[in-house]
Amino acid sequence: HANPAASDPDLWNAIDAEATRQEQHLELIASENYCSPAVMRANGSVLTNKYAEGYPGKRYYGGCEHVDDVERLAIDRVKQLFGAGYANVQPHSGSQANQAVYFAALKPGDAILGMSLAHGGHLTHGASVNLSGKIFRSIGYGLDSDERVDYDQVRSLAREHRPRMIVAGASAYSRVIDWSRFQEIAHDVGALLMVDMAHYAGLVAAGLYPNPVSVADFVTSTTHKTLRGPRGGFVLSSAQNEKALNSSVFPSLQGGPLMHVIAAKAAAFKEAQTPEFHNYQVQVLANARAMAEILTDRGMRIVSGGTDCHMFLVDLRPLSVTGKDAEAALGAANITVNKNAIPNDPEKPTVTSGVRLGSAALTTRGLGVVEARIVAGLVADALVARGDTLRLARVQRQVREICDAYPVYRSAKRRTFEEV
Ligand code: PLP
Repeated sequence: HANPAASDPDLWNAIDAEATRQEQHLELIASENYCSPAVMRANGSVLTNKYAEGYPGKRYYGGCEHVDDVERLAIDRVKQLFGAGYANVQPHSGSQANQAVYFAALKPGDAILGMSLAHGGHLTHGASVNLSGKIFRSIGYGLDSDERVDYDQVRSLAREHRPRMIVAGASAYSRVIDWSRFQEIAHDVGALLMVDMAHYAGLVAAGLYPNPVSVADFVTSTTHKTLRGPRGGFVLSSAQNEKALNSSVFPSLQGGPLMHVIAAKAAAFKEAQTPEFHNYQVQVLANARAMAEILTDRGMRIVSGGTDCHMFLVDLRPLSVTGKDAEAALGAANITVNKNAIPNDPEKPTVTSGVRLGSAALTTRGLGVVEARIVAGLVADALVARGDTLRLARVQRQVREICDAYPVYRSAKRRTFEEV
C-alpha cells in the first residue's frame, strides 16, 4: 500500500490531528461517541465503491449480490434489536430519516406538531429554518413549569390545530418521554405519531429507556449517538408501510445508498445485541447521574431536575457565565461541550445560558462513576477558572492525565482501523 500520509500530508496531517484531539480531549458532547474498530473498518471498506440503487434483490445496478447480503443483515439485525416489523437502513442521516417519514406520510402544507427547538426539539421537528418548517405548517410544544414535556399543552395544541402528524423525541431533554401519552393524544385527534429516538436509541436497545416501536406509527433514529455506530440514520415501522417508506427514501429523497455505512450499521447493530453493550449503557446512565449530582453540588442547576438518560442541560446562570463563555473555558481545558439554550433562555441562541453534557463517549473510554465524578469536578473547576490561563492549564493537565489513562483507540483493546 502506498502511504497516503506521504503523498497528501495536508489532508492526513489534519486527520491525524483530529485523531490526537479525540485521544487528548474529554468528549462531553451528548450526540457523539467513539465507534468500535469493527464499525470503523466496515465504514472504510471497499463497499464505498459500489452503486446499489434500489433494495436487496431489486437493484438498478449489477454486481449487487454481496451488498444485498450486507443490507439484509443490517435490516434483520435492527428489526430484531428494536422489535420492528419493517426497517429501512438507507437514510444517510437522522435528518433524512425524518424527511423520509414526512414525505411518505404527509403532503406539503399539512400540519405537524413537534417539540420546539427552544425547548429541546431537533431542527427537523418543524423549526422554521429547516425544510420541515418550510414545507409543513409547523406548531411547537414545549416544557411545563417543572421543565417536563407539557402533555397538556400537546393535547390542547393537537385539538386546536388537528395536525396530520405529532413528532415526539428530542435533542436536549434528559427525562423519560412517555411515548404512550403521545400515542393517546395522536389517537384522540386522528394524527399519526412519529418518534425520533436518535439520542436515546442505544439505551432503548439495551432496554433502559422505553421502546417506542410498538406505540408509534413511525420511529426514526441516528446510528451514531448512544447507539455507537457510524454516522447515519434508519426508519422503523410496521410491514404495511414498507412500500411508502422505501419509495420515500429511494428514489424520492436519495440516490445510491452508502453501502459501506450500511455495513458499519450492521456491525453496530450486532454489537448492540451483546451483554457488553447492555453493561455499557448501564454505566452511561450511572455516569450521567454522577456528573449531574456533582455539578449540582458545585452550584449549577440541572434543567428538568436531573437525568434519566445519557445527557442533561446545565443552567449556568447561578455561576453568572454564559454557554458561549463556558464552551470556550472548557475547550481551553480540553473538555469538549456544546453551548445550548435552556428553556426560556434570556440569551441569544449564539450565546445561551447553558451547556449540554452527555456521558456516552467518556463511558466508551472506560470511565466509571468515580472518574465521571472527577470529570464533573474538573468541569466545575474550569468554569470557575475561566479567563485565568494558568488555572485553566492546570485543569487541562488533569484532563490529559485522565485521557492518557483511558485511551480511545490507542490501547490494545480498541485499535484503529489501520492497526487492526
Ligand atoms: N433527530 C434528533 C433528535 C437529533 O438530535 C439529531 C441530531 O442531532 C438528528 C435527528 C439529526 O441527525 P443528523 O445530524 O444525522 O442529520
